Amino acid sequence: MQETLSKLSDIEILCSFISLSSMRYALTSGVFFMVFYIVFKTQLTHLKIQSKYPLNKDLKREIKYSIFTLLVFSLSMLIPLNHYVRPFTFIYTYVSDFGIFYFLFSCLALVILHDAYFYFTHRLLHHKWFKRFHVIHHQSTNPTPLTALSFHPIEALIQVLFFIIIPFIMPVHIFAIGFLGLFLFIHNAYGHSGFEFSFLKNAKIYNNSINHNLHHKHYHGNYGLYFTFWDNLLKTRCN
Ligand SMILES: [Zn+2]
Ligand SMILES: [Zn+2]
Repeated sequence: MQETLSKLSDIEILCSFISLSSMRYALTSGVFFMVFYIVFKTQLTHLKIQSKYPLNKDLKREIKYSIFTLLVFSLSMLIPLNHYVRPFTFIYTYVSDFGIFYFLFSCLALVILHDAYFYFTHRLLHHKWFKRFHVIHHQSTNPTPLTALSFHPIEALIQVLFFIIIPFIMPVHIFAIGFLGLFLFIHNAYGHSGFEFSFLKNAKIYNNSINHNLHHKHYHGNYGLYFTFWDNLLKTRCN
């Protein structure tokens, strides 16, 4: 993959990222939306967290801003991956360079570090200086899987900054970054789904869909992404 990347021009890398991230959005948010809001809408309606369904104008706005986000994400990944900058990063070529255990450790470390990064930048986005950007995401008070990437472009840039910085801090294989991206898309589609299964309702460590739905409904509390750790520690949990 790394060798394939080094043979591609920057414009080819950009096009690959646009295709890959659009495909991920379609296969995560798109599939969640199809299942919960179209194909099995009647059968699953009892699992809906807020009884109302979104209006078409909300869905159109979410798709429009998600397209901007996909562009910002793809363009930003050119920063660490372009031919001039990549040699200065710790992105490595073969899993065997650091071994399989380091690869697995790095995947786990990325999830934990990203969770902390998200919590604190999310708190920042609620500050009066930044909330004019975050308000786009919060226009969806009753989120759907399509809300997952509905961000103002400045917020999208703040979100993707983690993926830009991390290759300059620790050795990462491109698949570990890819794993984090996929994990984020799946979690975000679930967290914004607007539905919850009863067996996940009492999740203590992992943030379930209800927790993030409450954040959209009330605007405050539950700032965490994957885990409840930071909200519990800093007493920002709301139920
Ligand atoms: Zn928020
Ligand atoms: Zn959200």
